[in-house]
Amino acid sequence: MTLIPGDGTGPEIVEATRRAIEATGVDITWDVQEIGMPAIEKVGTPFPQAALDSVRRNKVALKGPLTTELGTGFRSVNVALRKEFDLYANLRPAKTYKGVRAPKGDVDLVIVRENIEDLYAGIEFDINTPELARVRAVIEQEGKTKIREDAAIAIKYISVMGSRRIVRFAFDYARENHRKKVTAVHKSNIMKFADGLFLRVAREVAQEYPDIAFEDRIVDNMCMQLVQKPELYDVIVLPNLYGDIVSDLVAGLVGGLGVAPGANIGTDVAVFEAIHGSAPKYAGQNKMNPMAVMLAGVLMLRHLGERSAGDRLERAIAEVVAEGKDVTYDLKPTADDPTAVGTSQFADAVIRRMGAPVHA
Ligand code: NAD
Repeated sequence: MTLIPGDGTGPEIVEATRRAIEATGVDITWDVQEIGMPAIEKVGTPFPQAALDSVRRNKVALKGPLTTELGTGFRSVNVALRKEFDLYANLRPAKTYKGVRAPKGDVDLVIVRENIEDLYAGIEFDINTPELARVRAVIEQEGKTKIREDAAIAIKYISVMGSRRIVRFAFDYARENHRKKVTAVHKSNIMKFADGLFLRVAREVAQEYPDIAFEDRIVDNMCMQLVQKPELYDVIVLPNLYGDIVSDLVAGLVGGLGVAPGANIGTDVAVFEAIHGSAPKYAGQNKMNPMAVMLAGVLMLRHLGERSAGDRLERAIAEVVAEGKDVTYDLKPTADDPTAVGTSQFADAVIRRMGAPVHA
């Protein structure tokens, strides 16, 4: 298994997670690799070949957050990792745990976001460039529409292949995890071709899964319904842009960034991580909540077929959080609560709950 500690507070929370995963009794050999800023410092490149080879070989990685340094000239390593391994599915379960302050109780949703296509494919044309002028000319001619000269352009594309595989992923996930319904989200009333295609393909794929219910929702209505009645939904599949926004909305419903895990999954490789960033100002302070990376570890264990170990780890985390004693500052009633424990003490409490000995 490849273990990428990340940077900022990443190494602390990843280490806490490694200990908690080992306490489940599953035998994992960790292959520790650096990418991003730590790799630049050590070997001068954000993507050392050895790290990429390790991920390709092990097929599964647990990753800490990586700081995106603005203005250093290399694009986000997180995005690059997704492209390198064609990690087309972003899986974001969102569940309320007792003890986590959340605006909504009893949320148990899974967001499946397409990760490669759509407006986020990076096809953009900057204002006042010759490329933009050529693209504008084609659009004006073919689309019979005028585009202002002071506009920049970003292209949204959605393919049959991309839609089919993400919707199949959502249905397969639903089936494997005993979920009952998949909801496809779109705006096909306005974007009749791109979003219309997504919806058409989703309806076709749904026919292959008669045991799972299917419905669709327009994205704006979906946002309102999720705030008012999240309990009506189960697995939700969305194109990239809507998925990005709606998955954060849902993370907010269950208590925010500190408690939400994610996974980026492709045909061959899967990378598990928290959705929060590296919170660099707290680096080295043993302060951050490791719960989100630990829950990513739960997803990883289930992905590896270690379902009962995953269930045990999730139960232990839930019990520690529900008790509210050995938890980090963000899970206490106030951020300056003197009874808050550190990252590694939270891990110790989770390990003890599983009945395992605590090793530093
Ligand atoms: P962030 O998520 O790192 O932190 C924002 C704030 O949220 C923190 O200051 C802290 O108060 C709180 N917080 C976040 N995680 C927490 C935790 N585990 N426990 C308790 N509190 C927590 O967001 P940011 O400051 O916008 O980003 C910092 C860096 O991380 C940026 O460079 C960004 O690009 C990067 N980032 C990386 C990933 C990734 O690696 N997948 C994801 C998001 C952001």
